[in-house]
Amino acid sequence: MTVKCRYCGKDIDKELAIKVGQRTYYCSDECREMADHKRNHSKQSTVNFKPQQGTARRELTDLIQKYYNEAGYRDDEINWQLIGSQIKNLVSNFGYKYSGIRYCLWYMIEVVEKRLIDDSYGGSILNLVPYEYKNAEIYWRQQQELKKAFREFQGHNKRKIIKPHTSRKHYPSVDF
Ligand SMILES: [Zn+2]
Repeated sequence: MTVKCRYCGKDIDKELAIKVGQRTYYCSDECREMADHKRNHSKQSTVNFKPQQGTARRELTDLIQKYYNEAGYRDDEINWQLIGSQIKNLVSNFGYKYSGIRYCLWYMIEVVEKRLIDDSYGGSILNLVPYEYKNAEIYWRQQQELKKAFREFQGHNKRKIIKPHTSRKHYPSVDF
């Protein structure tokens, strides 16, 4: 009687096959290892990390994904396991907010123009957040002041009502 190797599909004698669980057979240790690796890898990268849509946490992970994609990473090459534990640490131990971390990332990349994604060192795009979080918050407050001053200036000088941009899609709320 023959069975199929679950990994490579080769027909093998059932007596010689490596049996795992009830119905899974492999032709060799190598195929078994490859299958394990593939399973762990896909579990880590996809199942583990998709927070609910419309949450501040999801807005953060969407931005992280966007920056990795722009740097040439495929979705399954992003180390969500590491990123997930870093986010948890920043929120629980540093007391940071998801939207504040998101703004800090945007600030580091778009304003300070830091290079955050680099294969030559360990870690992730979030490594520098603790060093820049306060600076990002200061920058955000300055921007709010500037916007306010601009609105007041327009109001006094032209008596023209500026319709504020309220779309959450373009300006998700920020909290530090
Ligand atoms: Zn095989």
